[in-house]
Amino acid sequence: MLHTDAQPTPRSEYALHVQGISKAYGPIPALRSIDLCANWGRVLTLFGHNGAGKSTLLRVIATLVKPDKGTLTIGGLDPNVHAASARASIGYVGHQNLLYDDLTPIENLLFYARLYAVPDPAERTAQVLQDVGAEGWANRRVRTLSNGMQKRIAIARALLHRPPILLLDEPDAGLDAEAHSLVDAVTRSVTDGGGAVVMTTHDAQRGLAAADDYAVLRSGRIAAQSAAAGTSVEDILALLSSRGAV
Ligand code: ATP
Repeated sequence: MLHTDAQPTPRSEYALHVQGISKAYGPIPALRSIDLCANWGRVLTLFGHNGAGKSTLLRVIATLVKPDKGTLTIGGLDPNVHAASARASIGYVGHQNLLYDDLTPIENLLFYARLYAVPDPAERTAQVLQDVGAEGWANRRVRTLSNGMQKRIAIARALLHRPPILLLDEPDAGLDAEAHSLVDAVTRSVTDGGGAVVMTTHDAQRGLAAADDYAVLRSGRIAAQSAAAGTSVEDILALLSSRGAV
């Protein structure tokens, strides 16, 4: 039983509303006029080949990267106006684990719990460590842990403040089959509580199995977005490999 419940009742029409977002890194356009909605109570999977812009889009939504153009609302809030509330609505697991190597998982999580003013930080820390199956090594320094163990702690950190919106950038990368089930359980517990999940993946089969909705990114543009029901892995692979302008 995961303890990611207690999501606030959704108030906004969309969990996330991205409109006309563009972002270039110098001359490299990473995102080109992206329009995308994530719905409360649903998992949105983002598919795309290497370099398609998936991570950049999640980092823009997590307010870690400022877009060049466009607007974003997080739970109906403009992060430029309500920065703290918008950020507190988001749990983000990226490629970097954002953990302090010389601290233990418990110390890391207590630090973040205090940063986010989580009530009962010690109790909540113990709870999320249990949720990700990390009780056995919660007192070892992070730098002595395997990549998969560190990823589990990163997931625990993202859940700590019970965010109603969870962003997972390739959450399966480096994880074993048991941890895949953990990712599935975490995403379902967030959506069952009324929250929203956006995840990226290279695994069309797993990504589609997890998805209520999906979007395909190609060269920084949305090539397709739809409800996942009735979509096959072959459909996704065809959308990923289609040639020509989108
Ligand atoms: P992958 O599946 O390989 O993680 P992705 O779909 O997540 O790829 P992004 O990492 O968002 O793609 O990259 C989109 C484009 O932006 C790529 O051309 C990439 O080289 C470029 N890019 C991403 N981050 C930076 C950066 N910090 N500086 C310069 N260019 C970047």
